[in-house]
Amino acid sequence: MAGVVKLKEGKERKVLRGYPWIQRGECQARGVEDGAVANLVTAGGDFLAVGTYNSRSRFRFRVLSLQDETIDAAWFAQRFQRAKDLRSDLGFGTEACRVLYSEADGVPGLIVDRYGPNLVVQVRSLGQERLKDIWLEPLIEVFGAESAVERSEMAGRQEEGLEPYQGVLHGSPPEYAEIVEDGLAYSVPLMGGLKTGHYLDQRRTRNLFGAMVRPKEKVLDAFCYTGGFAMQAARSGASVTALDILPEALDLARKNLATNGLQAQTIEANAFEWLQQTQGAGFDWIVLDPPAIAKTGAKRDSLKWAIWKLVHASLPNLSPGGRLIVCNCSYQLSLHETIETCRLAAGDRGRRLVLERTTMQDTDHPAPIHFPEALYLKCAWLRSD
Ligand code: SAH
Repeated sequence: MAGVVKLKEGKERKVLRGYPWIQRGECQARGVEDGAVANLVTAGGDFLAVGTYNSRSRFRFRVLSLQDETIDAAWFAQRFQRAKDLRSDLGFGTEACRVLYSEADGVPGLIVDRYGPNLVVQVRSLGQERLKDIWLEPLIEVFGAESAVERSEMAGRQEEGLEPYQGVLHGSPPEYAEIVEDGLAYSVPLMGGLKTGHYLDQRRTRNLFGAMVRPKEKVLDAFCYTGGFAMQAARSGASVTALDILPEALDLARKNLATNGLQAQTIEANAFEWLQQTQGAGFDWIVLDPPAIAKTGAKRDSLKWAIWKLVHASLPNLSPGGRLIVCNCSYQLSLHETIETCRLAAGDRGRRLVLERTTMQDTDHPAPIHFPEALYLKCAWLRSD
């Protein structure tokens, strides 16, 4: 029989409205093992939800279902199928997408990206780690996968009591998955790359960017990774500089550019330093897509400071009327605060910026509004006035 976790009085509403996390201090468990599936009950003992418990985590209980149901292979298969159906018309002619986005798809602690027949899995909670034997088979089956690797290297696993892990879960994955997204070919490193190999979340923003850039414009993709924004700009006929601090990322960017018959200058540098040391470069576009700087609230100020520095250093390198795309992939800093930070940096340079549009993570990373933490990636498109 499932163990029982008792919720503090007054917290029922948020659970019933779909918020999936019960935090430290909001519940009490007796005799429930860490990582085990348990029932969440009200102070009066009435059933509320089934989920997983972990006394070590800030997120003591993660809701799997508000129905009193058994969490077995059939349960997972149903959730996977629903997630798959939701992504049936993603567009961009791509077989690469996030097929499962954790809480936002009703499977807390589990992220799965698909690159054609290859899956890349991230396990973020002890609960899902312990359920792996149950979900792996339906996952492979529902998505018709030929191979699956696990890339669970994120820092958040530590507080779950999990070590970083990387390994093959199924089949014989190739070193690189060859994908096409929006008409551009990418080699995606299944084991060696950042995140799960490719930044699927920026797909729509990259596409829009490609559509906006005009021939002969000067473009800087300052955190280019494998060249996503750079290739879009090059395809539109722009003169492109792609910069990254990681030599392996630049190697892949050069490989992807060559595969697509595109050209760009590539620079291995720290974007913060390079932008500060360069003056008057006259770019028509600068794309700033830094990695997640604030994974916890404690790092909010560092993130603001980083955005301030990037915008401050970019402005002298932007042509009059040029545009900045400032991306922030941390939930911890809202779009509003990101724009505010840009305003401060522009003010300090005596420049004015006009917000032309905002974009966010693409729809394969759904953002239920009853779970605000799901919306993490926001991009502000700013024109220098
Ligand atoms: N825009 C990319 C994703 C960027 S991910 C895309 O669409 O695919 C962030 C990138 O920033 C990574 O490639 C990482 O190597 C790079 N990076 C991290 N710190 C950096 C720094 N200080 N200067 C330049 N690049 C940096």
